[in-house]
Amino acid sequence: MDIIVLKPTATEEELRHITKKLESRGLNANISKGTERTIIGVIGDTSKITEEEEDAIRAMSGVEEVMRILKPYKLASREFKSEDTVIDIAGRKIGEKKIPVIAGPCAVEGRTILMRIAEEVKAAGASFIRGGAYKPRTSPYSFQGLGEEGLRYLAEAREKTGLPVVTEIMDPRDLDVIVKYADVIQIGARNMQNFRLLLEVGTVDKPVLLKRGLSATIKEWLMSAEYIMSKGNQNVILCERGIRTFETATRNTLDLSAVPVLKQLTHLPVVVDPSHGVGKWDLVAPMAKAAVAAGADGLLIEVHSNPEEAMSDGEQSLKPDVFKRLMGELKPIAAAVGREI
Ligand code: PEP
Ligand code: MN
Repeated sequence: MDIIVLKPTATEEELRHITKKLESRGLNANISKGTERTIIGVIGDTSKITEEEEDAIRAMSGVEEVMRILKPYKLASREFKSEDTVIDIAGRKIGEKKIPVIAGPCAVEGRTILMRIAEEVKAAGASFIRGGAYKPRTSPYSFQGLGEEGLRYLAEAREKTGLPVVTEIMDPRDLDVIVKYADVIQIGARNMQNFRLLLEVGTVDKPVLLKRGLSATIKEWLMSAEYIMSKGNQNVILCERGIRTFETATRNTLDLSAVPVLKQLTHLPVVVDPSHGVGKWDLVAPMAKAAVAAGADGLLIEVHSNPEEAMSDGEQSLKPDVFKRLMGELKPIAAAVGREI
């Protein structure tokens, strides 16, 4: 038994009674109050519940139906919540008709350059500013990010432009400082299965942008979302950023079929990052367009005023004028699929 659907007439008292019953069996209740119905997601090892106990719960007053979910993820599944999740970040919504674009440099490199890029992406129509202050670099000798100093610059860029900040966490020890400055916490591809980190971000009330692991299946990815949600944070945004395949012409293989697949399996919003997907700036625009056509709820695009001098991911970063042109070109594609950009 994984889901308990309550009758529309169920009272708070009946809900409390059911919750207590679950707690007495070492389980927790995740309560989702929809417009029509309240649904309880049963969290924990539900295999401990016998069929007799399940029947007893089914017979409790206020209960309409008790169901098992065959998928290993529950809270993230469409069965648990049929309506699309819309995440509101300081008035900017992800998961609605309008497709927000998260743009900015790979890393926060300095105050002046970040302010400049923030103004440029804002002028081009971006909805969020991004930039890493803690960077997951392949080499320990590469630029690792500015840490809290970088977070301060991001907060200043938000003040100046009004754009909410998306930035990556790599270590649970940085959670407090990141929560202080970020509007959305990014979990990078390399940490998609860092389960302790997932549990930690599950305890805070900031939305989490969960990138797909380098070689993660969609099921594994949704299980990682489930880790976050199981701790109470339901505001998870999935981000497809390409996976490892045998192909070397692009940095990764951008799996755009993940978008419609996820739309069937989950209610969570899906963002596409063509920049890390292809790794080359001149391939970003066509894949961004394809992502919008495929039904993406948002885009993440790396932009740098001077890509040749960028401290990371310069080859895949768009110059501001190229980004601006792309933003214009995306409009008719969004309109063709009933969206707006
Ligand atoms: C990034 O967003 O700059 C980044 C490091 O992405 P990913 O984790 O997808 O490689
Ligand atoms: Mn990057």
